[in-house]
Amino acid sequence: MSNLRNTLDSPIEYLKGVGPIKGDMLKKELGIHTFGDLLRSFPFRYVDKTKFHKIRDINNESNAVQLKGVLRRMETKGDGRAKRLVGRFRDDTGVIELVWFKGVYFLEKNLAIGKEYVVYGKVNSFRGQLNIPHPEIEELKAETTKKASSFAPVYPSTDKLNAKGLDAKGRRKLMMTLMEKIAPSDLPENLPDYILAKFKFPPHFKALVDIHFPKNQRDLDRATSRLKFEELFFLQLRLLQIRRRRKDSVRGHIFGLIGENFNRFFNEKLPFELTGAQKRVLKEIRKDLGSGVQMNRLLQGDVGSGKTMVGLMSMLMALDNGFQACLMAPTEILARQHEIGITEYVEGLDIKVGFLSGTVKGKKRVKLLEELAAGEIDILIGTHALIEDPVVFKNLGLAITDEQHRFGVKQRAKLWAKSQPCPPHILVMTATPIPRTLAMTLYGDLDVSVIDELPPGRKLVTTVHRTENHRMRVFGFMREQIHLGRQVYMVFPLIQESEKLDLKNLEEGYEVISREFPIPKYQVSIVHGKMKAKDKQFEMERFVKGKTQIMIATTVIEVGVNVPNASVMVIENTERFGLSQLHQLRGRVGRGADKSYCILMSSFKLTTEGRERIQTMVNTSNGFEIAEADLRLRGPGNIEGTQQSGILNFRIADLARDGRILQTARELAARILDDDPQFARSEHARLRLFYDKNARQFRVWSRIS
Ligand code: ADP
Ligand code: MG
Repeated sequence: MSNLRNTLDSPIEYLKGVGPIKGDMLKKELGIHTFGDLLRSFPFRYVDKTKFHKIRDINNESNAVQLKGVLRRMETKGDGRAKRLVGRFRDDTGVIELVWFKGVYFLEKNLAIGKEYVVYGKVNSFRGQLNIPHPEIEELKAETTKKASSFAPVYPSTDKLNAKGLDAKGRRKLMMTLMEKIAPSDLPENLPDYILAKFKFPPHFKALVDIHFPKNQRDLDRATSRLKFEELFFLQLRLLQIRRRRKDSVRGHIFGLIGENFNRFFNEKLPFELTGAQKRVLKEIRKDLGSGVQMNRLLQGDVGSGKTMVGLMSMLMALDNGFQACLMAPTEILARQHEIGITEYVEGLDIKVGFLSGTVKGKKRVKLLEELAAGEIDILIGTHALIEDPVVFKNLGLAITDEQHRFGVKQRAKLWAKSQPCPPHILVMTATPIPRTLAMTLYGDLDVSVIDELPPGRKLVTTVHRTENHRMRVFGFMREQIHLGRQVYMVFPLIQESEKLDLKNLEEGYEVISREFPIPKYQVSIVHGKMKAKDKQFEMERFVKGKTQIMIATTVIEVGVNVPNASVMVIENTERFGLSQLHQLRGRVGRGADKSYCILMSSFKLTTEGRERIQTMVNTSNGFEIAEADLRLRGPGNIEGTQQSGILNFRIADLARDGRILQTARELAARILDDDPQFARSEHARLRLFYDKNARQFRVWSRIS
């Protein structure tokens, strides 16, 4: 063991005031294992302990308030889930109720009537009465007032932590203890001087002290921007380094030839003129494929921008050079759609398309795998069944994933192993646009192509918001459209946590529709994720072939379904869908010659955020704008599919707000890697040191893509 061990590596239980029990708690609840972890668990806000509101001045417009007063009465009311603790809190101007639904037992035991407290919380109005639900409450002590600071840090906490004395005050005390333990030498500078100077950043140590105990707003702002920058900068430096190293060391199959498949397809088969954007992206891809370096490219484009065609034509390049290609989709339905579409496109050419998913079993599967290994299948399309170990290609040259942030890192890595001596070229297509900041992070080590142009003649889908009291008129409109020969989608949410209830809604919806649109005049299809693949397939086909006029479905139809005759999309409980999902759903209509409509149904009562999201859909049809709005309104953690990705667990940076910092950090990182890739210059010695020390953390990132 080295005796040069940094104080920050000390186990958290050794900090005075922690010990084994609290230590365990901090590890389990907050992932804080060392002094350093504690130092890097930042406050999520600060309270101004010098300023208090008067109860008299509070009204239902008040937001968060801080009060100083005496706890008067306390009683528990209701029982079961409605059980709550109600306290009456008085200052010299009035009285207000404090209400807790959780932690009642603990609070009852620890709060004392007649004592002075400081209360902080958001004001709520319930039946005309003002109260403060779940306020933070802390005993008013001489210390609180004497040392009163206008920036007392508040840390995220849980009921369990509170119960062990690690509440707001307890955490603050721990931080103070820690501050006494550490010195600037524990936190050597990790950013080059010229960056510090350029942005007037405080030194590393000062920034970490100030983020916890800032003296004033200016210090806090500076510490915040430095720590945000630092977090984003090191991630970008790492991602760009991975990209660079891969380009330097991972060789790729060379597709130098444009041959018969591509040319015949282009001249005889391609049913339309490619858009300018499609042409540009194909050129970018072709350049990659001919370079001798493995391609790792992200293809972004709005719903309906024609990514599949670009994918297909790239696959033809692989075929022309004697290689196989595969296309992997996130769902069975989408994979089938691709198979049907692509088989149709290449009909008449000497190309064999195969399909593989979990539903391909027995002899059929054995035969398919044999043909694949023998090189008789040129293009394999399927679900993630493609990457399972028994699936062996003869010579896979290009692997395309059509994804919705659904394929994990590990899955993409498995694709790499499917080809020797070098890995296949990889093209990742996103189903919907993702915000720029998210793309730079989740796919920050990939090259990016963007299709920023829709094929000509696309008609805007008229989008409206309707509530339950418009229901009959919406049905009337559906009837009108059906009588004009159109078809209608009706989509219900299906969220795992409330699956049973959702299925019930869907079935009720089906009943209502069956009543309002009776057979034999109308035919209705129903499709949801819980059905057998075969039944799903059957129902889909009926709709695709126009045998049914209404398709009731969960989001399984979100991607891929292409029925140009469908002109109305009705979405139920719109407020429960994510924006990109809604955008994807709306993209199912407006594919034919007819004017199309998207009707967003919701309950009358909506949260502000819910209303804003629906309004965004009504206002714009630009997928990139919608993605940005989604990020702003719900934060990166709520964007579909990103949760599993540890890479988004920032300590302080916020992708929804820190786009400019991210951009700057990425540019600087790129410049450093261009000028001094080995960090050989003295001004970059700190970068190398920091990397070496944090190697463990960075290893996680290198497994991406
Ligand atoms: P997405 O980018 O959403 O995957 P698709 O590849 O499914 O889009 O294309 C949507 C539709 O547009 C398909 O029916 C496709 O045939 C058609 N399409 C693609 N490119 C063009 C083009 N250049 N001109 C006209 N139609 C096109
Ligand atoms: Mg697509």
